[in-house]
Amino acid sequence: MTTALPEIFTTHDMKAAYIGEFKFSLARDGARLWVTHRFVREFNKFGTESGKFLGTIIPDGGYRPAQGSGPYVQRVKDVILAVGEEGIEFIIRNGKELGECTFCGRRLEDPESVIRGYGPVCKVNHRL
Ligand SMILES: [Zn+2]
Repeated sequence: MTTALPEIFTTHDMKAAYIGEFKFSLARDGARLWVTHRFVREFNKFGTESGKFLGTIIPDGGYRPAQGSGPYVQRVKDVILAVGEEGIEFIIRNGKELGECTFCGRRLEDPESVIRGYGPVCKVNHRL
């Protein structure tokens, strides 16, 4: 059984997930997710610098890559697949490995949080 990433966001009341080099964030419609690169930056049409936009994940979990996201498409798909198979555990383990909170991207300092893979505030906010 696989779980679509937007469904995991709904279940855990998530606004964002920092997974590897990518950030997945809830779109304003509250149903789709935006995929951006955390480290590759670009300027949008309003002149604001942000992570490179890599596409949209629609509610059923399908990925719609953005123009110019070619070099990243396969890795984004790999993450979506892994999350689909393992669910929230994959997301949390990823944060653990990087030593940062998956949900807010903050560095984990407290030993208990490091072991757990997310901070105390996100633990409450995401019903974990
Ligand atoms: Zn956090």
